[in-house]
Amino acid sequence: MSTESIVKIINPYAKITTGLAAHITEQSGAKSAHIHLVKGSKNTQLFIVNGSRRHQITPEIEARLTRLIELNDEQSIQYELVALGLDAPALIDDKGLQEPPLHALSLAIAQKCNMGCSYCYAEQGDFGGSSKNMSFDMAKKSIELLINGRKKGDTVQLTFLGGEPLMNRQGLRLATEYAANLAADREIIIKFSMTSNGTLMRIDDADFFEQYGFSITISLDGLKDAHDNLRPLKNGAGSYDQIMENIKPLLAIQKNMQVSARVTVTPDNINLAEALDEFIDMGFHSVGFSPLLKSSNGKNEMSKDDLKHLLAGMIACGLKFEHATLQGKRYPFLNMVNALKEIGKATHRPYPCGAGAGYMGVSADGELAACHRFVNEPKGKMGTVEDGIDRELQNIWLTDRHVQKQSPCNVCWARYLCGGGCHHEVIDKGRTACDYIRGWLHFAIQSHERINRLVPGWNK
Ligand code: SF4
Ligand code: SF4
Repeated sequence: MSTESIVKIINPYAKITTGLAAHITEQSGAKSAHIHLVKGSKNTQLFIVNGSRRHQITPEIEARLTRLIELNDEQSIQYELVALGLDAPALIDDKGLQEPPLHALSLAIAQKCNMGCSYCYAEQGDFGGSSKNMSFDMAKKSIELLINGRKKGDTVQLTFLGGEPLMNRQGLRLATEYAANLAADREIIIKFSMTSNGTLMRIDDADFFEQYGFSITISLDGLKDAHDNLRPLKNGAGSYDQIMENIKPLLAIQKNMQVSARVTVTPDNINLAEALDEFIDMGFHSVGFSPLLKSSNGKNEMSKDDLKHLLAGMIACGLKFEHATLQGKRYPFLNMVNALKEIGKATHRPYPCGAGAGYMGVSADGELAACHRFVNEPKGKMGTVEDGIDRELQNIWLTDRHVQKQSPCNVCWARYLCGGGCHHEVIDKGRTACDYIRGWLHFAIQSHERINRLVPGWNK
């Protein structure tokens, strides 16, 4: 039976994907620090951690490597790579980046929110402080910090976050116009993005965001009931219907602009496939899922058991992606698109993201933080907009947060794809999602091989 037929059969049956997820979890455990074997229906791939390289191997090589993995004989595994001609100098050393250039900044343009989501990392928008807007003067200085160090032809990213950024619509618009003009003067390419709850969006916002080619992410936690339960307005009323009404014009006119949906997954909205299909049908440019591993008050966090269900749901969605791709259809399931892209280009990186490196968050008062989630948190402090990046704090951060310094990441096969997990989550909560992360990556490596084999050139 062809993989295509299997995909068609498997997809509707959640029980089967639960079984498949359990099997993948078992297969994807952290068994060797240097290699990982990824069995598929037609062949087995050898994933080499150094450089995230993939090679198809014969059953004989597979048997030898399996034996060495069982014996935990890392030295012989390395000899075997040499014998196969697959050894290479270490592409990532254990030294932290030092003073990397800034290329992305997020502004907490409104440190306040009109919603009362129970799990909000920004503690209902104000990050545990008083509600405030960023002044235009502070936004200008932040933009200058981002752009001044760049040279002609560079690309920078300016993101507006909150709270709810549209609670300071005027500040957001002035800052966008200022940044666009300054970047044009310096011949720098600037990209804009914003994450919004969608409740305050107006028709004229759609025109503005289209004009500046924004990437807009709307936070939606599933279909109506699930969303209303998790993301009520401050007065307790549901917000789903209002958001859907508000964002229709954005979805209709997106050309320069892209409008995506982001679902924060909690134990209460784990039915991914239904939301994914519905949001794709509505015309979102992409739809992504992100498990809630750390909330401000411990509410709604995903347990290890919940993450097992999540992996099954993600695999079900991944199989839907494969099915659509086999049929030549676009199916913008963002997690899958990103995972396949990273695997295809053999991403290997020492950090999970750019936080504290090329990317920083700015509080309404102009404090620099490692990222938007560290705003107002001493442990992510990186200087101020007025005084510039505190290079000493930054270098300490980059040395300490390097994936090779993290345990058990330093012996995990997925470390250069994963980067060690979101700093904001693992610093406080530890690494609770490793089985999920490795299971998802293992599935994505299998899937990449299947799609490449069945639909050559699918990603061109
Ligand atoms: S956080 Fe990522 S790299 Fe670290 S052990 Fe878990 S899966 Fe591996
Ligand atoms: S630390 Fe976490 S929240 Fe911050 S940018 Fe990185 S992944 Fe995102």
